[in-house]
Amino acid sequence: MHRLYENNDIVVFWNSEKCYHAKRCVTGSPRTFDIQRKPWIDMSLADNPEIWQTVSSCPSGALTCVYKHDVEIRFDEAGHRSVAFAGDTQIGECVFTVGEGGWTIVHTAVKPEYEGKGIAKRLVYKVIEASEREKVKIDATCSYALKVLKD
Ligand code: SF4
Repeated sequence: MHRLYENNDIVVFWNSEKCYHAKRCVTGSPRTFDIQRKPWIDMSLADNPEIWQTVSSCPSGALTCVYKHDVEIRFDEAGHRSVAFAGDTQIGECVFTVGEGGWTIVHTAVKPEYEGKGIAKRLVYKVIEASEREKVKIDATCSYALKVLKD
């Protein structure tokens, strides 16, 4: 399961397949990470340094995080894509096709000046998260998206 959690400044990626339940997250920030709660991550209850430090201590790589850099990601279901915006300007997208076998991510791109900020990963996660919520199979021909899917 892939999920995105965010507050105004930070995005946390959660890949449940990598988690081996060492529970360092629960110990590091019990307000943010509570396995009895749904959703189990609440980004509004602790400050950014506490969240960042806790995510960094995850031994499995199931939790990772990036700064948002004032970039918002939206899921555009009708357009078969997720889209990144800096203000009103589109600065990236992740496009998928819809077939009988499920969704296939075919293209992920971010404007060069916004590369290296984790935006492509946020775009891909947004599509994967939507496919999982819809219970649709997801695959990719886009090499970057495939790397995120297999990671
Ligand atoms: S610290 Fe990482 S590996 Fe441990 S329970 Fe939390 S997410 Fe899972």
